[in-house]
Amino acid sequence: YNQRIDEKVDTMELDNLIISINDLAKSLQRQEDIRKNLTKDISHELKTPLTSLQITLEALMDGIIDPTKERLSVCYEEILRLTRLVKDLEKLYSYEQDYRDINKTKFNISELVQNIITTFESEYKRKNITVNFNNNNLTLYADKDKITQVIINLLSNAIKYTNEGGNIEIGLFEHKNGIKLIFKDDGIGIPYEDKEYIFDRFYRVDKSRTRLTGGAGIGLSIVKAIIDSHNGSIDLESKEGKGSTFNVYIPN
Ligand code: ADP
Repeated sequence: YNQRIDEKVDTMELDNLIISINDLAKSLQRQEDIRKNLTKDISHELKTPLTSLQITLEALMDGIIDPTKERLSVCYEEILRLTRLVKDLEKLYSYEQDYRDINKTKFNISELVQNIITTFESEYKRKNITVNFNNNNLTLYADKDKITQVIINLLSNAIKYTNEGGNIEIGLFEHKNGIKLIFKDDGIGIPYEDKEYIFDRFYRVDKSRTRLTGGAGIGLSIVKAIIDSHNGSIDLESKEGKGSTFNVYIPN
């Protein structure tokens, strides 16, 4: 009788294993399909601003049209679009990196957060967004370059997905044997049904909404990989239309 139960348990475990492997294969296939589509999308999107710039500049050089302020600013907008696309491509490459390879040093994390906020100043001020930070002089023992990447990705998302005149609160606290870093915005938020996929590679909530802002859907997967490699944790609280809060814990 016991043996029959054991066999039953074994087949159940085997069934579960097969289901897990199938799920994994499906998820890998999904990621691969998305990656292929994204590469195609990006190449296609690179062509449009390049063609427009080429035509306009040729016409300007031939004296067919005048270099009015309006025409120049159209060119400038196209260049901004190209820059965003190139940033997407950079992210696509960097996600291939091995995040387990970490190099820890002791550094002032408050100073780091403050410096990053300062580099983003023109970007958030352009949208009339206020950023508050409780600078409190904490240190952390971690991989500084990688933690820099985490802060940049979370802050740039908060700015990207917050409307004109919004607020971003960044909180930094001592927590257990490390720090807790909180990014709270009152932006567009993340729908409940997307929450579980948000840290997946290439996942974007709404293609049309995020393509406009130039996202590739890899920023958060990089953040998650870096935090995992530090044995930390990240979670998200969000309400669509109300804002998002990312809670990060990094141990020393
Ligand atoms: P992306 O490069 O598209 O921004 P991410 O991996 O950084 O990629 O984010 C994945 C998706 O999660 C984004 O496309 C966006 O839809 C959503 N998202 C991320 N951060 C926020 C935020 N602070 N507020 C609202 N939506 C967000």
